[in-house]
Amino acid sequence: MNLSSLPPFVNETYRDFLIPEHKAAMLAALAQVRAELGREYDLQIAGHPEKGGPDKLLSYNPSLTTELIGMHQKATAEQAARAVEQAHAYFPTWNAVPAELRAARLFRAAAILKRRKSEFNAWMVLESGKNWLEAEADTAEAIDFCDYYARQMLRYATPEPLVQMPGEHGQLTYLGLGVGVIIPPWNFPLAILVGMTVAALVTGNTVVIKPSSETPTIAAKFMEVLHEAGFPPESFQFLPGSGAEVGDLIVSHPKTRFISFTGSKEVGLRIVELAAKTQPGQRWIKRVVAEMGGKDAIVVDSQAADLDAAASGVIAAAFGFQGQKCSACSRLIVDATIYDEFVAKLKPLAEALTQGPAEDPSNYMGPVIGAKAEKTVLNYIEIGKSEGRLITGGAKAQGPGHFIQPTIIADVESTDRIFQEEIFGPVLAVTKARDFDHAMQLANDSAYGLTGAMYSANPEKIARARAEFFVGNLYINRKCTGAMVGAHPFGGFNMSGTDSKAGGPDYLLQFLQAKSIAEKIIG
Ligand code: NAP
Repeated sequence: MNLSSLPPFVNETYRDFLIPEHKAAMLAALAQVRAELGREYDLQIAGHPEKGGPDKLLSYNPSLTTELIGMHQKATAEQAARAVEQAHAYFPTWNAVPAELRAARLFRAAAILKRRKSEFNAWMVLESGKNWLEAEADTAEAIDFCDYYARQMLRYATPEPLVQMPGEHGQLTYLGLGVGVIIPPWNFPLAILVGMTVAALVTGNTVVIKPSSETPTIAAKFMEVLHEAGFPPESFQFLPGSGAEVGDLIVSHPKTRFISFTGSKEVGLRIVELAAKTQPGQRWIKRVVAEMGGKDAIVVDSQAADLDAAASGVIAAAFGFQGQKCSACSRLIVDATIYDEFVAKLKPLAEALTQGPAEDPSNYMGPVIGAKAEKTVLNYIEIGKSEGRLITGGAKAQGPGHFIQPTIIADVESTDRIFQEEIFGPVLAVTKARDFDHAMQLANDSAYGLTGAMYSANPEKIARARAEFFVGNLYINRKCTGAMVGAHPFGGFNMSGTDSKAGGPDYLLQFLQAKSIAEKIIG
């Protein structure tokens, strides 16, 4: 297999659930998944199922907080160490498998995910509170990551030719690094877990996967896909458990070669610090790929071409999946000349959003992920009420889950906490800009630098935003969420992370090391 023999990469399409056939498929998948709720799952080391410590990790439906989704193990310290040792022992075998064969397994994983698309959607609806379309987009992105990274691996399997010195044969080859610790978040419970895991595996590394404690069942289901796709059971270890306990152990282990993390700034920085400390017996500098939080801004300029389109974009970016996206719009910066008019447009749009259990396809917004998140977001809403002017929302919403009303707070200053701190919920802070210079200054007044968007029809201002808006993913005249694999390589500046550009042509390089070989031609 080589790259040129494959059709070009195309993103997986989203189904329209208004079409009866697709709706029926989702309803059937929800019924199938419901029949499996509450099951106990084992952790896995070298393909062997094991129980963990006496305490279990229980995952509940955030839309219906009494409904148990899955019961999982909490790995012990001994199991954490053994998982890394085992992955280390198997690394030379897996790294020696030709890249083409590793890529072939990844294409197979994409096909299996396609086949099980509705089922994975259903798990996400029930375990993470995604609405049907958000779940569909998550599964589609997971499929895209498999397909795209398989192709990228084929590209690295035939590197660019080197300059050949007279009398020598020169070659560059790419090797895996070793054991990768994979630590994903819960908010793209399938896509990010899959992307991080398969990028590490296809490049020849072995992995220890520590899933998020909020969405371990989705992760356990993905382990079935890896098995079926033919990844050797020794190449991936499934190690649920507390991030603070198991996470620290596997990050610090001397045989860990790299850590691929996506999550909060606080945890990411802790991992960077722990990984930098060399342990006795450690023979390398650990690499850390860390994608962290965001405090993303949309700028609406006085010369925006269509204020209604801008308002719809802001609402979708702020309240899609309850604002629980690293790319979500949490700061809106509006030019003073259109400020009142634009804020007035947002209120009815936010109030028209339907909210309730994610399982009901008529609900646009579902719950936030759990009790802790609910408390944090409600606390920020109270802070926001004291910092700005409440336009709409501002409270918990009715229902049996962790529902919070879409909340808009206007007249927020750049020094306010809700302007500066990541809330990770359905809360939008609106700030008035004196002019375009001020808007750019406000947009960049953040420790983060993940996504950003600006709406304007003025080419000079667009050019300035391209040059000055300091974010890893900039969008012009469209919303700041919804990055697509291959089209919008994703990763942030500043405290948003190491700018790894997931879903882009350079991503795999972070999991590879290049070996340069020069052989003198004899005779
Ligand atoms: P989190 O609390 O930082 O957790 C992320 C992962 O780290 C979880 O698997 C967690 O395990 C684990 N963890 C916790 N403490 C650890 C430690 N000491 N050592 C090692 N691992 C540890 O983040 P989250 O709440 O899951 O996700 C939301 C955050 O992710 C937001 O800040 C969001 O912006 C960010 N995010 C960023 C991107 C991006 O591409 N930049 C994408 C998505 C999300 P437990 O669950 O067991 O605690």
